[in-house]
Amino acid sequence: MTIQTSNNRKQTLWKQILSQSITTPRDLPAWFEIDVPALKKVVARYPMRINPYYLSLIKQKDDPIYKQCVPDIREISIEKGYEDPLNEEALSPVSGLTHRYPDRVLFMVSARCAVYCRFCNRKRKVGRASMVTKKSIKEGLSYIRSNKRIRDVLLSGGDPFLLGTRKLYYILNELRAIPHVEIIRIGTRVPCTLPQRVTTPLAKMLKKFHPLYIHTHFNHPDEITPQAALACSRLADAGIPLGCQTVLLNGVNDDPLVMKTLMQKLLKIRIRPYYLFQADLAKGTSHFWTPVSKGMEIISRLQGHTSGLCVPHFAIDLPGGGGKIPMLPEFVIDSNKKRLVIRNYTGRQYRYPLH
Ligand SMILES: *Cc1c(COP(=O)(O)O)cnc(C)c1O
Ligand code: SF4
Repeated sequence: MTIQTSNNRKQTLWKQILSQSITTPRDLPAWFEIDVPALKKVVARYPMRINPYYLSLIKQKDDPIYKQCVPDIREISIEKGYEDPLNEEALSPVSGLTHRYPDRVLFMVSARCAVYCRFCNRKRKVGRASMVTKKSIKEGLSYIRSNKRIRDVLLSGGDPFLLGTRKLYYILNELRAIPHVEIIRIGTRVPCTLPQRVTTPLAKMLKKFHPLYIHTHFNHPDEITPQAALACSRLADAGIPLGCQTVLLNGVNDDPLVMKTLMQKLLKIRIRPYYLFQADLAKGTSHFWTPVSKGMEIISRLQGHTSGLCVPHFAIDLPGGGGKIPMLPEFVIDSNKKRLVIRNYTGRQYRYPLH
């Protein structure tokens, strides 16, 4: 897919790509050899959207890109997990805004995404237009305005970058007018799933709202394409620090070598890995879950073996709303009153005095 050069046409290009998305199982390529009636039932419960750009990254059936976006019968045949694994609804003072930690909130400003990821922990919400409305955005803004403790607002969804540039500008502008909001963050999968959305006008607009941080979401090295690199360079050139929140997914990236490659490739496109999440216990996603030991193993195989910049925080977002907890492999092998015994990345042991 070529990226056009005139600004106006760029703006329409992403909308054009999005409008050509596959949203019903019968429109999936014949070579996927799927069971159309079975997947229709899945999609009746959890919407599907695969835009032509992300579709073009699939090299073969059941590869890591395929698994992330093509519906699977196990989404409805296995009844494990919770609709709302992080108890976001109970912690929402107004619809679409979750206030779990003292100084920051998660603010859902769009229910739409460029691709509906099958492992999404907000499966209950995404793709349902009624989940975010003009009213819920207005109420979210007034909640933030009236709570002086909120110094950090994380725009989320769905995907905030699926909003038109003007609508996003309105929200950012309202937030910036609130004196106690120190930093604004945007969580978006668009640099990965629809990088054409990151136009020069979008980057130029975002630049007005510093300090602004963006958390991208890449899960596999095959998602790091020239188009994704261009999108990230536009954001980084606008002075926006880029992070990545990767989700650990069975059959997609639950492999130390795949993960190391991903983290190294992220740094090459100017993204600093931030979190590696244990998959949340969301209903309809249990076929993606991995044992906690897998994440620990991956961190052990990164730490010390490659730049510290490549090592994200491995975290579990506790079911029931306990929040994100970092999980670290054990480096302290033994301790007494006088010294610690610490192992390094190769397994060699060292003593370190406590006083
Ligand atoms: C993840 C999350 C945040 C942000 O957490 P950080 O660790 O600061 O990135 C804030 N609020 C909610 C409800 C969240 O789930
Ligand atoms: S882009 Fe994010 S919010 Fe949207 S479906 Fe994927 S994981 Fe869920």
